[in-house]
Amino acid sequence: MKSLVILGSTGSIGTQALEVCRRDGYKVNALAAGGNIELLEKQAREFKVKAVAVFNGEKAKELKIKLSDTDIKVLGGEDGVCEIAQYEADIALNSIVGIAGLRPTLAAIESGKDIALANKETLVTGGDIVNRAAKKKGVKILPVDSEHSAIFQSLQGTPQNSLSKILLTASGGPFYGKTRKELENVTVKEALNHPNWSMGAKITIDSATLMNKGLEVIEAVHLFGLPSEKIEVLVHRQSIVHSGVELSDGAVIAQLGTPDMRLPIQYALTYPERSNYAFERLSLADIGTLTFEKPDTDTFRCLPLCIKAITEGGLKPTAVNGANEQAVKLFLEGKIKFLQIADLVEKALESANNKKEFTLEDILETDKLSRECVLNNL
Ligand code: NDP
Repeated sequence: MKSLVILGSTGSIGTQALEVCRRDGYKVNALAAGGNIELLEKQAREFKVKAVAVFNGEKAKELKIKLSDTDIKVLGGEDGVCEIAQYEADIALNSIVGIAGLRPTLAAIESGKDIALANKETLVTGGDIVNRAAKKKGVKILPVDSEHSAIFQSLQGTPQNSLSKILLTASGGPFYGKTRKELENVTVKEALNHPNWSMGAKITIDSATLMNKGLEVIEAVHLFGLPSEKIEVLVHRQSIVHSGVELSDGAVIAQLGTPDMRLPIQYALTYPERSNYAFERLSLADIGTLTFEKPDTDTFRCLPLCIKAITEGGLKPTAVNGANEQAVKLFLEGKIKFLQIADLVEKALESANNKKEFTLEDILETDKLSRECVLNNL
């Protein structure tokens, strides 16, 4: 049985990953989170982990006191999270939200562990350096994002050079079919009301703006090596076809299932094997109809902005990601309107300096500047 470290264990993906571990008996050696020490303490005790880290240093000190009756090592800050990423285990599951997941992914790769990757911002911002580091260390990047897991699953058993196109499905989010006029005054509560998936706040807003699909196009470019022109986004309201591929002979292969993140999490852990257990079987007869259509990119501008960013390449994807993280934070705090998110992302995309060859420091600097660009354009 494989052993794991889980980064972002207190979030939506992290808690579902622990559910899979609880059910299938994976050994969880260490955990990391941002600041929710109440839940982290419970998880650390239940899974009898050897170490935990909390990004928020003050909270780490509090947790150290709470766990003082145990032998569990408590670390704090980003260095602590990276130390957990390097802790002894077969796989590091990274479900941290945002670019905060990038350094921990690189730390986990450095320690030679395979990565089960939910944190899409890792590849959006650092795709090139992450792929280079993974290749150098012989580390596998196993996608957890449901669409990328579906693509990965669809490619099992196909010759490496036979992929001709990716079909990336999108639910369309809570504002599917709405006009820009109708979106002018939508509330945070409405934007958080996703029709098919229950997820963390940031990705739920990203789904409402279609930024999430844009980030996923960039993620797919880095995972599967196709340019963005060969990635077709399809709005599929039922979220049953999780994505698919078209092969060189025209065959289309897709992965279907109920909308449940526990399957892609489980597959990243069992790969290349399959578990015998399904959380819920799919009944196509009950679903009846599956529909597919083109996305409305005039209304949901974050998607074409991400495609422009990956087409320009270099640091541009980092710029759109950083601006989006800042803008979503402001929207959740009630400080900007929904449609401003795309406007601010566009400003940062236009103003970011670009370089084809870049380092981790360049990425972090571009992220900082794009967040500042958002704050300066309010
Ligand atoms: P949540 O907001 O629910 O959880 C985020 C997790 O990251 C929490 O455990 C949080 O800790 C932790 N965290 C935040 N900042 C830091 C930090 N600096 N260092 C360490 N830990 C940190 O997000 P989700 O689970 O929804 O999403 C996580 C990632 O997975 C995102 O990249 C998302 O795009 C991706 N994803 C999510 C899906 C989903 O269904 N939820 C589907 C596909 C991809 P704390 O709670 O203590 O603050």
